[in-house]
Amino acid sequence: MTNIFYTEEELAFRDEVRAFCKKELVPFEDEIQKNNTYHKDLLRKIGEAGYMSVHHPAEFGVGKYVGKGLVYETIVAEEISAVCAGLDMSRMASATLFGKPVARFGTPNQLNKYLKPVLRGEKIGAIGITEPNVGSDTARMETYAMKDGEDYILNGKKYFITNGSQADFLCVFAITNKTIPPKQGMSAFIVENTMPGFSVVKDIALMGMQGARVSELAFKDIRLSKEQLLGELGQGFSILMDELDSERVAIAGECLGYARPAFEAALKYSQERIQFKKPIRFFEGVSFQIADCAMEFEAARLLTLKAARAYDKGQKITKEASMAKVYTAEMAVRVCDRSLAILGGRGYEIDHKVERYYRDARLMMIGGGTVEILRFLIQREVYKDFTGEYW
Ligand SMILES: Cc1cc2nc3c(=O)[nH]c(=O)nc-3n(C[C@H](O)[C@H](O)[C@H](O)COP(=O)(O)OP(=O)(O)OC[C@H]3O[C@@H](n4cnc5c(N)ncnc54)[C@H](O)[C@@H]3O)c2cc1C
Repeated sequence: MTNIFYTEEELAFRDEVRAFCKKELVPFEDEIQKNNTYHKDLLRKIGEAGYMSVHHPAEFGVGKYVGKGLVYETIVAEEISAVCAGLDMSRMASATLFGKPVARFGTPNQLNKYLKPVLRGEKIGAIGITEPNVGSDTARMETYAMKDGEDYILNGKKYFITNGSQADFLCVFAITNKTIPPKQGMSAFIVENTMPGFSVVKDIALMGMQGARVSELAFKDIRLSKEQLLGELGQGFSILMDELDSERVAIAGECLGYARPAFEAALKYSQERIQFKKPIRFFEGVSFQIADCAMEFEAARLLTLKAARAYDKGQKITKEASMAKVYTAEMAVRVCDRSLAILGGRGYEIDHKVERYYRDARLMMIGGGTVEILRFLIQREVYKDFTGEYW
């Protein structure tokens, strides 16, 4: 059957990224898992190859696929995640979580100074939303930037910041006006890691995502000139919401990347493993699980592509992005779990990798908005759009 998911050009791009991963990333895969190494050199190679730039404006990125859009970003996310989830989480935190708000709201000076080197992989970006006391309820964040003449003085803490200890530049969200509702009183700033008052409290030990760094950060009296403000004063909450839509679709692409190799391992093993004198695939207890994995994997790909294509057409995709992320994240956990079961005891063995994809996949039911919060967003959008007929 011809591939109706992707165009010929997109498939050629996927093959190119897959070949890049095989040549440049696979040789480091085991070492990263063993030593939890953070590879700035690999991020630079990914940047030089143009895989940080695919959904950024042509004038700021690199490579022949620059400016192609979010569908291309999901392809990159899937392929790199299939080799090393932690590495793609680092890439995405830089190129998408930091890069997208800067690309969409940055001044020409900010685009040149911050976006360009990040997309080339020379510098690393991060986004700071979550705090020790504030997760899902982002509007109630405590980090505060107080006006001081023309400047702002930033104080607060951020927690769970991907690339936090490694980033050169961070897009930090803070309250700038405590007297109005936080949705109007929040702003975004670009903070450099060399600014006096910036410090890394610690890197947080994780269940999975080897090769990534996720950190607690502190800001103590950081003086920010108005050049560090991203977008307008008070625009922080809408910048945040805009960023999250594209992030969630890109994460859905990553989830396809965790599920696929786990499923492939189960497909292979179920044909090779003989029990009761036949390959285990001939037992319905196994083969029906394979059927469920295949169905759910393809459904997840469709939801991901629908959201990405709508975004590339300039549509608002809060519902579609949330659906894609919830479904693909839960699909990836289910597919990894079933694949692990099909491998029996081998599935629990570190050498067989499926346990690793399972641990990596579980994060995406939490990061970028938990599945509970996203279900809340989905139902809200569904009711909002309902005019008597759903379709
Ligand atoms: C590895 C990792 C990397 C991350 N990277 C980043 C990053 O780069 N930048 C960043 O800013 N953040 C990052 N995060 C933070 C992430 O986005 C948050 O963990 C997530 O949004 C949830 O916040 P929380 O952990 O504080 O959970 P909480 O908000 O405290 O929620 C705890 C539980 O309560 C549930 N809950 C809360 N409110 C409701 C409600 N109204 N209805 C139903 N259920 C509810 C949640 O779904 C969850 O199950 C990262 C997190 C992890 C683990």
